[in-house]
Amino acid sequence: MHCSFGSFQPIVCLADHSALATSLNSSYAAGEPTLFELVHLDQRWVGFRAGDLFLSAEPDGRIILARAHFLLWETFRLSDLQSENDGEPKTFCGAPSEPFVQNGEVVRSGGAAARKCTRCSYIFYDPLPAREFLDDYYREVYPAQNRQWYNADTDYSESRQGPVVDAVVSAIHRFRSDFRQGSRAFVAHDVGCSFGGLVMHLRRIGIDASGTELNAAAVSAGRARDNENIFNMTVADYIARTRVTPDLFTAIHVIEHMPDPLAFLQELFSLFGEDTIALFRFPNGRYIPALKTSYLDYWWGCSYPAHLHLFGPLSVLCLLERAGFACLELSCTRCEEQPDLLARACGLGDRTLDIDSLVTANVANFGGMELQVVFARTHGRVTRNNYDALREVSKLRAALEKAGA
Ligand SMILES: [Zn+2]
Repeated sequence: MHCSFGSFQPIVCLADHSALATSLNSSYAAGEPTLFELVHLDQRWVGFRAGDLFLSAEPDGRIILARAHFLLWETFRLSDLQSENDGEPKTFCGAPSEPFVQNGEVVRSGGAAARKCTRCSYIFYDPLPAREFLDDYYREVYPAQNRQWYNADTDYSESRQGPVVDAVVSAIHRFRSDFRQGSRAFVAHDVGCSFGGLVMHLRRIGIDASGTELNAAAVSAGRARDNENIFNMTVADYIARTRVTPDLFTAIHVIEHMPDPLAFLQELFSLFGEDTIALFRFPNGRYIPALKTSYLDYWWGCSYPAHLHLFGPLSVLCLLERAGFACLELSCTRCEEQPDLLARACGLGDRTLDIDSLVTANVANFGGMELQVVFARTHGRVTRNNYDALREVSKLRAALEKAGA
C-alpha cells in the first residue's frame, strides 16, 4: 500500500491509526506494510480489504483498519493519475507535459519534437515511432550508424564493463546481505544484453549470469566469442524456459529505448522474486551541461529514434513506483562522454580543464550524464530488509521535488 504525501511510501494500518512503515517517530511503531485486496465499486471508487477488515477514513481524520463492515467511510476514490480523460500524453509523475522549448525553439532530435514534463525533468518524443519502423531500425540502421562503439570488442572491454561489474558487486553487498557466497551461485540476468559483454564479465567473478537480447546479430556475434549464456529471445520466454528466478536483473541503457517503459517494467515485475533486486543505468534527462546550453547538442542522451524517453532523477522514481517497485538507491555515475559540452556549459571554452572536478560537481547535483537505480518489488522481502535505504531515497526524493529535478 502506498500513501501519498508528495511521495509514495509503504504504510502499516493498525486498529487505531496508520503510519509510514518506515517511520522513525517512536510513537508510531514501524512494521510490515499492510497488504490490501482491492474491492471495485462504481466508477473509480474502491474499497481496501485486509483479511476480514476494511480500511476506513474516519470522520476524525484517522485512517484505521478495524471496521468489519463496508459502508461510507470505507470507500476511496482512485486519483486522477491514470485517467484517460484528456488527449495529452502522460508523464509518469502525473503532471501535464508541454512542448520542450529551449533557447526559443522546440527541441528536436532526428526530426521528432520533444515534450517535457511541467514538474520534473522527464523528456519524451510524441508520437512514438511505429513498431515496424523500430524493428527495421534496430536490425539495419542502428548497428550500421553506431558501428564505432556498438560492436563485440567494445562490449567485452574492461573499460566498458568494469564499472558496471563494480556497481553490481556493491549492490549485492549492500542489499543482499542474506546472500552467502559458497552456498550457491548468485543468479543474474542482463536484459537487453547486446553482445553479452556484461554477462561474460559477471561470470568471470563467479556470478551465474545470463542475458537476453532481441538483436539476433548481436547475440550471434557474442556466441561466436564462446559466450553460450546469451539468448535471442525475450526475458519472459527465457525465465519461462529455465524456471529460475534471478537474484538480480540488470538493464544497462535499455529503458530509454523502450516505446512503453512502464509496460516493460510491469512485465519484468512478474519475473521478480521476494529477494530479487535490479540495477538499471540510463542517460540522465537532467544532464546539467545540456540544461545550461542546449539539448540539441546532447547527442549522448537525445538521439531519436533510439532514445524515446529521457528520465531524470525524479521521473525515474515515479516510473518505478507506477510499476510496483521501490527504489533502494538512486545515484549518478561518473560517466562523462561529452566533455566538450561540459566545458562550454561552464564557459571555459578551449582552456585546459579540470574535467574531473566539473564531473564531481554535476554528479553531486544529480546532473551528471548517467543515472543508476537499484530497486526491488515494493512488497518484496528485500525491500522490508532495507528500510534504511528506502528512508534515504525518500529524503532524497523530497529534495528533488523541491528542485523540480
Ligand atoms: Zn514529471
